[in-house]
Amino acid sequence: MAVYHDEVEIEDFEYDEESETYYYPCPCGDRFEIKKEDLANGEDVATCPSCSLVVKVIYNVEDFQDTDEEKVVKSNKAQLEVAG
Ligand SMILES: [Zn+2]
Repeated sequence: MAVYHDEVEIEDFEYDEESETYYYPCPCGDRFEIKKEDLANGEDVATCPSCSLVVKVIYNVEDFQDTDEEKVVKSNKAQLEVAG
Protein backbone atom coordinates (compact mmCIF):
# COMPACT_ATOMS: atom_id res chain seq x y z
CA MET A 1 0.00 0.00 0.00
CA ALA A 2 1.33 3.39 -1.00
CA VAL A 3 2.26 5.91 1.66
CA TYR A 4 1.85 9.41 0.33
CA HIS A 5 4.56 11.96 0.95
CA ASP A 6 1.90 14.65 0.62
CA GLU A 7 -1.44 15.48 -0.94
CA VAL A 8 -1.31 18.17 -3.60
CA GLU A 9 -4.09 19.90 -5.49
CA ILE A 10 -3.83 19.75 -9.27
CA GLU A 11 -3.86 23.56 -9.33
CA ASP A 12 -0.48 23.50 -7.63
CA PHE A 13 1.05 21.33 -10.34
CA GLU A 14 2.81 22.84 -13.33
CA TYR A 15 1.40 21.65 -16.66
CA ASP A 16 3.64 20.96 -19.64
CA GLU A 17 1.59 21.04 -22.84
CA GLU A 18 4.15 19.24 -25.00
CA SER A 19 4.33 16.14 -22.84
CA GLU A 20 0.78 16.57 -21.47
CA THR A 21 2.20 15.96 -18.03
CA TYR A 22 1.71 17.71 -14.69
CA TYR A 23 4.79 18.35 -12.56
CA TYR A 24 5.31 19.19 -8.90
CA PRO A 25 8.67 19.75 -7.15
CA CYS A 26 9.97 16.78 -5.17
CA PRO A 27 12.11 17.26 -2.05
CA CYS A 28 14.86 15.21 -3.73
CA GLY A 29 15.35 17.92 -6.35
CA ASP A 30 13.52 16.15 -9.16
CA ARG A 31 9.81 16.47 -9.89
CA PHE A 32 6.74 14.36 -9.30
CA GLU A 33 4.92 13.72 -12.54
CA ILE A 34 1.54 12.47 -13.66
CA LYS A 35 0.15 12.45 -17.18
CA LYS A 36 -3.11 14.10 -18.12
CA GLU A 37 -4.19 10.75 -19.55
CA ASP A 38 -3.60 9.07 -16.18
CA LEU A 39 -5.78 11.67 -14.49
CA ALA A 40 -8.56 10.98 -16.99
CA ASN A 41 -8.29 7.28 -16.09
CA GLY A 42 -8.80 8.05 -12.41
CA GLU A 43 -5.13 7.68 -11.50
CA ASP A 44 -4.29 10.02 -8.61
CA VAL A 45 -0.73 9.07 -7.69
CA ALA A 46 2.10 11.24 -9.00
CA THR A 47 5.50 9.58 -8.89
CA CYS A 48 9.06 10.90 -8.86
CA PRO A 49 11.44 9.23 -11.33
CA SER A 50 14.44 9.79 -9.05
CA CYS A 51 13.20 8.57 -5.66
CA SER A 52 10.47 6.42 -4.17
CA LEU A 53 8.25 9.25 -2.93
CA VAL A 54 4.71 9.58 -4.25
CA VAL A 55 2.07 12.26 -3.78
CA LYS A 56 -1.67 11.97 -3.97
CA VAL A 57 -3.20 14.36 -6.49
CA ILE A 58 -6.36 16.13 -5.37
CA TYR A 59 -8.52 16.75 -8.45
CA ASN A 60 -11.92 16.23 -9.99
CA VAL A 61 -11.70 13.34 -12.43
CA GLU A 62 -14.65 14.70 -14.42
CA ASP A 63 -12.58 17.77 -15.35
CA PHE A 64 -10.24 15.49 -17.29
CA GLN A 65 -12.72 13.21 -18.96
CA ASP A 66 -13.27 15.41 -21.99
CA THR A 67 -13.14 12.42 -24.34
CA ASP A 68 -16.49 11.08 -23.11
CA GLU A 69 -18.38 12.66 -25.99
CA GLU A 70 -16.14 10.91 -28.50
CA LYS A 71 -16.72 7.54 -26.82
CA VAL A 72 -20.50 8.05 -26.95
CA VAL A 73 -20.34 8.75 -30.69
CA LYS A 74 -18.29 5.60 -31.24
CA SER A 75 -20.62 3.38 -29.23
CA ASN A 76 -23.63 4.77 -31.09
CA LYS A 77 -21.93 3.96 -34.36
CA ALA A 78 -21.21 0.42 -33.15
CA GLN A 79 -24.86 -0.04 -32.29
CA LEU A 80 -25.91 1.12 -35.73
CA GLU A 81 -23.56 -1.36 -37.32
CA VAL A 82 -25.03 -4.17 -35.24
CA ALA A 83 -28.56 -3.07 -36.21
CA GLY A 84 -27.69 -2.87 -39.92
ZN1 LIG B 1 12.10 12.61 -5.71
